[in-house]
Amino acid sequence: MNHEQVKIPQATAKRLPLYYRFLKNLHASGKQRVSSAELSEAVKVDSATIRRDFSYFGALGKKGYGYNVNYLLSFFRKTLDQDEITEVALVGVGNLGTAFLNYNFMKNNNTKIVMAFDVDEAKVGLKVGGVPVYHLDELEQHLNKDIPVAILTVPAHVAQPITDRLVKQGVKGILNFTPARLNVPEHIRVHHIDLAVELQSLVYFLKHYPAE
Ligand code: ATP
Repeated sequence: MNHEQVKIPQATAKRLPLYYRFLKNLHASGKQRVSSAELSEAVKVDSATIRRDFSYFGALGKKGYGYNVNYLLSFFRKTLDQDEITEVALVGVGNLGTAFLNYNFMKNNNTKIVMAFDVDEAKVGLKVGGVPVYHLDELEQHLNKDIPVAILTVPAHVAQPITDRLVKQGVKGILNFTPARLNVPEHIRVHHIDLAVELQSLVYFLKHYPAE
C-alpha cells in the first residue's frame, strides 16, 4: 500500500497518536496482534470507530485474529513522520513553558522543542531542560523555516502579536495554551488548549453528568 496516497479524515488523524502510543507499548511487550475490543478498552474509543479508522490505514482486522501490530506500527510511523524529528519553538518560559521544556515530549514521539523565547532578562540566556532561551527581539534571527510548529505559553494579551511574527517566520502550526483566540491566515493551523476551561468543563460534567 502506498502511504503517500492515504487521505485520512481529520477526526481519525487526531486519534492516530493515541493508537500509536498504545501499539508501541504492545509491540515492546512482544504482542504480534491485537483485537479491536482490546484496543477499544485501552484507548477508550468505541470499537466500531476503531474498525472504521483502521480501514483507512488499509488494515483490515480478521475475525478471531485481530490486527497485525507490526503493520499498524509501520503505517503510523510513516504517517506521523516518526522517522523525522519535527522541531518546535516555545514562546513564554513561565511556569507552564518551563514544564514543557523540561518534559520535551521525546518519550512519546519525535517532536522536539529546540528553542524558546521570553522577554524576561532573568530567563534570557539560560538553558531550560537543555533548550536555549533567547530574547523575543531575536525571534526573526533564530526562527527559520525548519521550525514548523510553535507552542504559546505567554500571557494572553501578547499572544496575537507574537502569533503574527511566528506566521511571518513560516510557522505553520501553533499550539495555543493562552486563553486568547488567535486570528491567523487560512493555511495556518491553531490548536487551542485552555487548561482552565478544560478543568472547569470536567468539573461541570462531573456535577451534572456523573458517570454511572
Ligand atoms: P512566571 O511565574 O515565571 O512569571 P507564569 O506562567 O505565571 O510564569 P505569565 O505571566 O503567564 O507567567 O508569563 C509566562 C511567561 O511569558 C513569562 O516567563 C513571561 O516572562 C513571558 N512573557 C511575557 N510577555 C512576553 C512576551 N511579550 N514575549 C515573550 N514572553 C513573554
